[in-house]
Amino acid sequence: MQLLFEDDLVEAAVRLCAAGTRSGIPALQLRRYDVERERCYAVLDPDERATAFARVQLSWFGEWGLESRLTSVALHFPMLQPALTALAFRKARGRNDEGAELYRDAQGRRRGIVALRPERFADDAPLTRFLHHELAHLADMVDPAFGYSPELEQTGQTASQLRLTRERYRLLWDVSIDGRLVQRRLETVADEVQRRQEFNRGFAFLPEERRDELFAALWHGRLARHHPLLDIAADPRGLRGRHDPVPGAACPLCGFATFQWTEVDRLRPAARDRIRADFPAWCDRESVCARCAEMYDSITGLEYPATVVL
Ligand SMILES: [Zn+2]
Ligand SMILES: [Zn+2]
Repeated sequence: MQLLFEDDLVEAAVRLCAAGTRSGIPALQLRRYDVERERCYAVLDPDERATAFARVQLSWFGEWGLESRLTSVALHFPMLQPALTALAFRKARGRNDEGAELYRDAQGRRRGIVALRPERFADDAPLTRFLHHELAHLADMVDPAFGYSPELEQTGQTASQLRLTRERYRLLWDVSIDGRLVQRRLETVADEVQRRQEFNRGFAFLPEERRDELFAALWHGRLARHHPLLDIAADPRGLRGRHDPVPGAACPLCGFATFQWTEVDRLRPAARDRIRADFPAWCDRESVCARCAEMYDSITGLEYPATVVL
């Protein structure tokens, strides 16, 4: 995985340091930086001049520890290394433009891009918290067990339902991300109290007991998968899940139509407990599809029980 730093970000971050925003930079170095920049103005060819400027900015980006800050935070996410061909940092156009995104090219190569405002480089502690959170999003996106898909649309949803699903999905995912980071003792952008407040606001319509269960499952990493998060985001009251396991109906866990339902009482208790932990609203009567049964069987490490074709 190659680490890339966009010229605009490098320049803005270095200028910010040169203006004295980042503490701990010796005055002598600031003078050397000014001298090196002045020298670039003497280059007549505009392209060569731009290249010379970029070279000066990049060398101070390294010298002042900005590059190593990004590099060392990325080391906490070793799963990104084999999954991405490059991890690029670019300048965000504003607060709403900040965040991590995953791109896939025609050859299937994946590239992670983190957009951040140059002001973030003023202080290492909040910068690190921000990067932990965003790189954790990327780590989920490349983890096959998380099963990420950028497609959040569900059949029959209106535009406003989709917008609400997106907002809720983002909130659920953020709670799950920060909970898991806290467990790894990595500092992040929000603590449990802040996330619980946001969660309670976003899901105020749920009974308190259900809200507590759901938050605990999220915060403790028991709901760290795309499909359960999307299910809750799209249908937090679990209304859609209240159907009978008839052939072709949607599985209450993964949401896919299935013709292979599992006889729930033949599931091992550990698998059933795990399903209940991930889907507090689920009840035995609703059953699960054979694929979900297999998945829960493998994560609880038990022998796969018989499924029946209805
Ligand atoms: Zn987030
Ligand atoms: Zn399923």
